[in-house]
Formats: sequence, C-alpha cells, structure tokens
Amino acid sequence: MKADLHCHSYFSDGKHSPDFLLKRAEANNISHLAITDHDFAYNPTVTQGRKSNVHLISGVEISCKWQTREIHIVGIGIDPEHSILDSLLLRQRESRKFRVEKINKLLVKLNIHGLMSYLDSQRAISITRSHVADFLVISGAAKNRKSAFSRFLGKGGRAFIPADWTSMGEANHAIADSGGISILAHPSRYQLSRYQLKSLIDTFKKSGGMAIEVSYASINPSIQRMLEEAALKNGLFVSAGSDFHDTQAHWTDIGKFPQINPMAEKLAVWRHPNWCL
Ligand code: AMP
Ligand code: MN
Ligand code: MN
Ligand code: MN
Repeated sequence: MKADLHCHSYFSDGKHSPDFLLKRAEANNISHLAITDHDFAYNPTVTQGRKSNVHLISGVEISCKWQTREIHIVGIGIDPEHSILDSLLLRQRESRKFRVEKINKLLVKLNIHGLMSYLDSQRAISITRSHVADFLVISGAAKNRKSAFSRFLGKGGRAFIPADWTSMGEANHAIADSGGISILAHPSRYQLSRYQLKSLIDTFKKSGGMAIEVSYASINPSIQRMLEEAALKNGLFVSAGSDFHDTQAHWTDIGKFPQINPMAEKLAVWRHPNWCL
C-alpha cells in the first residue's frame, strides 16, 4: 500500500482537476489518495463513478490560528456533508472572500486593477493568496509568485491582510465529529524553534489532534525521524502526503515523499480506528 494523503485540486489553489489527480495517482502506483483542498471538502463520491485502482478518500486542509501564527490541519476520512464541518468551512471561505476584498482595496490604491474579475473567472471554490499572486504575475505587477508574496501578499508586503482563521480545537473537533482523522500538516514549514514545535504538538494533541504529517516533499530525513519520535512520544499517529499542487512545480508529484520509517509504521494513520476503508 502507498497512500498520498495531502494534495490540492483546482477547487482551491491546485492547478488540476480531481480526475487528473486520480489518474496521476494511478500512474504513480498510489493505492489511496486524499484530495485535501484549503477549507473545501471535496466529496469523492463525485469522482468515484469512474473505475480506478486508487481508493479516493475525502479530505480537507483547514487553516488555523495558533498564538500569532497560521498552521494547517489536514482532515481525512471526513463526511464532507457533516453540518458542523460544513458550516466551519463555509465560514473559513467567507473569511477568505472578505480578505481578498480587502487586498483588492489595497491593490486599487496601488493602481493595480482587475483582481475581483480575475477571481470570478477562476474555478476555485476556496480563494487563496496563490490566486492573487497569479493575478499579480499575469497583470505584470510581480515577476513571479515568490515576488508577489514578498512584495505584496506576505507579512510586511504592501497588500498584506492578516487572516481570521478558526482555532486548532475547533478544526480538530469538526474533523472528529464528522468521523475523520485530524493531522498536523507539514510541521517543519512553520519556522519554529524546537521548543515552539514541542509546544505546538502538545497543544495540537490536547485540543483533539490525532496524527502528525511526518513525510512530505523534500523533507530532511533527520527532521522526519524527529517528527516520528515526537508522534511516538505523544501517542499520535503518523501520516504522509506530497502537498502536490501543480505539474509545473517539478520538485513535487503525487506520491513523491519518503516512506514512513519502520519504527513508526505501527502508528501509520491507516491503522487509526477512524480509517474507513
Ligand atoms: P492562503 O491560504 O490564502 O493564505 O494562501 C496560502 C497558499 O499560498 C499556500 O497554500 C501556498 O500554496 C501559497 N503560498 C504561501 N506563501 C507563499 C510564498 N511565500 N510563496 C509562494 N506561495 C506561497
Ligand atoms: Mn496551497
Ligand atoms: Mn499547508
Ligand atoms: Mn497543502
């Protein structure tokens, strides 16, 4: 079995359709795939009409606030129509809309016009700053995505607007209530000290979190081992996923991440009681 439990479709900031992701997973010999869009729970029954060797699992990636930071919680095996989860995700997407409206106002003051009509032409159900970055590149205001974030959209940028996200506890509980497994996403990407990471994992566990993502694109083997040890110590399961967004980003692909190490295999998320296949 090889499971990729984190990737994005064009319903958030991925470039491809769920059907494309499923075919790519099939080509890359993946047995289980979770599509985990930002604050949007794709219902796999829509795609499951097509015969495939890949088991498609429902998923979502929820943006949360923790202290002054933003962290991401992946939920898999959720019921996408569960009312508590659905209303939380709706609220998050409303916050996203409100945020881009404020970003647009700042861009207009900088004489950059057309963001809202660009966003209207997109397929996304969940609007992210990646979409705004693409607009800034297309409109010639930034030379690439990276500079769109550093000059405009990131902290300290000219069109930076902080987001109003839910708490880790609320995200964890909504995922649990809908029958899913909550996973702390890519813990090494938050630029935390060892002490802060320990505190994050501790709060995540205490607020109902169930697993840690320990393997993802380009992870350093010693960091993976450290995360696996933290999972063992805290009684958390372990998960793995590519966080794939786009075939043009050649460093990522569906299924492209290291294996879970043997010492943590017994805690693999597919052994969790909520794993539902
Ligand atoms: P949002 O959830 O609206 O804040 O958008 C976040 C998305 O933007 C992330 O999921 C990344 O795909 C992308 N992103 C965030 N920061 C950067 C960055 N510095 N450079 C490029 N992409 C970024
Ligand atoms: Mn993204
Ligand atoms: Mn993320
Ligand atoms: Mn992601």
